Parts: sequence; structure tokens; C-alpha cells
Amino acid sequence: MSFLEDRSKTDWQSLDSEHYLHPFTDHKDLGNKSRIIAKADGVYVYDIDGNQILDGMSGLWCVNIGYGRSELSEAAATQLNELPYYNSFFQCANPPSIELANKLDKITQKQFNRVFYTGSGSESIDTMIRIVRRYWEVLGHPNKKTIIARKNAYHGSTIAGVSLGGMNAMHKQGGPLLPGIEHVDQPYWFESDRSHSPDDFGKKVASQLEEKILEIGVDNIAAFVGEPIQGAGGVIIPPDSYWPEIQRICNHYGILMVTDEVICGFGRLGEWFGADHFQIKPDLMTFAKGVTSGYLPLGGVMVSEKVSSAIIDKGGEFAHGFTYSGHPASCAVAIENIRILDEENLVLRTKNEIGPYLQNKWKSLEDHPIVGETRMVGLMGAMELVPQKDNPQRFDDKSTAGMTFRNFAVNNGLVMRAVGDTIVTAPPLVISEEEVDEMVEKAWMCLDHTQSEMTN
Ligand SMILES: *Cc1c(COP(=O)(O)O)cnc(C)c1O
Repeated sequence: MSFLEDRSKTDWQSLDSEHYLHPFTDHKDLGNKSRIIAKADGVYVYDIDGNQILDGMSGLWCVNIGYGRSELSEAAATQLNELPYYNSFFQCANPPSIELANKLDKITQKQFNRVFYTGSGSESIDTMIRIVRRYWEVLGHPNKKTIIARKNAYHGSTIAGVSLGGMNAMHKQGGPLLPGIEHVDQPYWFESDRSHSPDDFGKKVASQLEEKILEIGVDNIAAFVGEPIQGAGGVIIPPDSYWPEIQRICNHYGILMVTDEVICGFGRLGEWFGADHFQIKPDLMTFAKGVTSGYLPLGGVMVSEKVSSAIIDKGGEFAHGFTYSGHPASCAVAIENIRILDEENLVLRTKNEIGPYLQNKWKSLEDHPIVGETRMVGLMGAMELVPQKDNPQRFDDKSTAGMTFRNFAVNNGLVMRAVGDTIVTAPPLVISEEEVDEMVEKAWMCLDHTQSEMTN
């Protein structure tokens, strides 16, 4: 059964504009012009007019193995027929959720021995906050509640996710936010005055964590959390000096370190997790998105032995959980997704083959007169649009350069996202060399267009 034949494009659009309240959308701008995406295959999506669009964003950073993999839809169908749903409360479990827990144990660092399942990244963040606070409670430190995160971080959209994230535009709406959260600066070298070398800058920004711990008092601090590479904030790749210094500070003060792997996990950076790329050892990791390549909703928190054993041994019942924790169909899809990532060597290919291939082409965009910097790790990158490449100034505050690029791109068969004047990309890990060539050629054309629009 397909819905596609049911209505015309304009019918879909007008129904959409009447009844649908979209996420992160200004409906006055949207009107009844929503782009109806009808199909997808490999790295391409197709709108209802049949336009082919190269998806340089893997949906929302999640379709790691690409679209149209029938192994995943068959895994879901088989599981839905056998056991569509049962809960994991009250001493119950189901085979796919147990099997997936076992797989996750194998692909994560050795301190991780347990997973808590959720339905999304935001729920994983909420769960992580509850776990770290609970951990310190059961150890007899009920004041250790504060969690330190970074400005311009994205940790989801529930009230805890918004609060922990550092997005000004989100903080302005729907407060008050969750108490017990502090923010330090992000390691965004290009946005700094660039008076320090990247490595000195990385250390300097990391030292803000230490200052914050001393300011709030270590007896009040539960954890530090960060995305290994900030995604939604603009693919902010920290200098190499940054994460080791964060790890050193967390160890020194004995606070928990959490990596939010919702984007970086499941191969995006050429390792299973971002923590592996940066060679750090977090106590907890939140994940979602790429765990199922987005085919069904699933998220979770990897919990280290140290944290899980404290909660289990000293805590009694952990009063937390979701109806869809350990959903059998989602877990079955995740198992199949991980099998494909593994057997088709997609993680290693990202590290050693297609990642370097795209990185090299991406770097060549720096020859364009309006590109001030490009950066990429694995298959996750950004470029900075500037008026003149040798001058560190950006376009002014009201710049439309990023939006101009993005809109021209999608109308010419390429999805990339604009974060202000930062263009970001994260294509499916299955992208071929020819598709990379197409992506980068199109990006160059979009740069030409943006340059001529901005100088007119
Ligand atoms: C997308 C994202 C989230 C939120 O995930 P949802 O599934 O949208 O709730 C959390 N953290 C990071 C780093 C993300 O990119």
C-alpha cells in the first residue's frame, strides 16, 4: 500500500498547511509550499514531482547506511509479525532487545557493559541526566547535581535537552529551564579571534571547565557532557588538544564524563563512536539516530560498569523508563543495521577510503573566493562562508549567505544545511566516489551563485 496515489501534490500541501504543526518551522514562511518527499534510494531522496536530490545530510544526520535497504524493512516486518510490542518493565525482556544489548557491548569501549533503551536522542539525554544524578545519590553525594555542558551544543528538544543544550534561540522559548545546568564556551576556533594556535585555543577553552568546577564547587558537580563534534551547532571540530584536556579535568576532579554520540556514533567519524576517534574514555554515552539509520526510532544510553554497578548494588529500583524502552521492532532493525555497518566495512571505509576521498575534495572548496575554512572528520564536515577569504570578517549579522546557498542547493538537487553562514554536510556512509564528485561539484556551483547574490 502506498499513500502516494491518494492525493495530488497540491492537496498534500494544503492539508499539510491546515493540520500540521512542524518542528523547527516558521509556518508563516512555509505557507502551503512544503516539499513533499515521496521516495528514497541509496543517497538520493525524490520529491513528489520526481526531482532527484542528493541527501548530503543523511536525513537528519541519521541514515548512515543509506535509503532503501530491504534487509532493515524485512527485519522490522518479521519482528512486527512475531512480536510487535511488549514492554521491558516488570522483569520482562524480548529477544531483539537482549541481542542488541549484547551487540552494543561488543562495539563499545570495554568500560561499557549495559544499555538503557529510549525512543530518541532527547529521551537519552533525559535518561543520562537521571542516571548521573542517581549515581551520586546512591554514593551518598546528594548535592552533586550540576551538569556542565557547552554553549551552542545541541542535546535535543525535551525540556531537559533544551536546558542542557546551549542554543540561545531555544532557551528564549518556553522557560523556565531545568535547574542545575551550567554552560562553558565551545571549542570553535574559526569563531574565535584566532590569536591563538588551534591547540592553545583548545586547551584554553577546556580550562573553562576547571574554572567552572571551582566556581560551583566540585561537591556540587555531577558530570560534564559534550558532543565529540558538535553537529547542529555547525560541525565544530575541536582542536586535538581539547578532549584530552577535558578528560584530564574530569578525572582530576572525579566527575563523570559523558559524550553525546547521537550524531557521532555508528561510524560517522570513521570509528564506531566519537569517543573512539578522540581516544577518550567516557563514563556514559548517549546515542540514537544512526543506531537504526533512522529506519525506526530508537535511542539509548551506554552505561559503564562503574556507574551501573553503583546504581544496581546500592540503588534498588531505578524509577525510570519509557513505554517504548527496548521496542522489539526498533531493536531488530538496529541489529540488522549494525550487521550491515560491520559486514560491509562501512566504518573502516569511512575512515580509510570514502572519508579521505570526500575530505580531499571538500578541502578544494577552499579555493573558492567566499570560503574561509573547510573542515571534516570521517563524513561530517563544514565550510565557512565569508565575504573575502583572507579577511577573517564574516558577512554581517543579517547575512543571508547560508540560506542563499541552502535554498539554491535544494532547488538544484543537493541537500546541505546552513547554520548561519556555516554550511554543514554529513552524507550517508555508503556514498560512492561518483556521488561525492557530484556533491562537491554542486556545492561549488552553489558557492558561485551565493557569491553573485551577495555582491549584487
Ligand atoms: C539530534 C540530537 C539529539 C536529539 O535527538 P532526537 O532523537 O531528535 O530527540 C541529541 N543530541 C544530539 C547530539 C543530536 O544531534
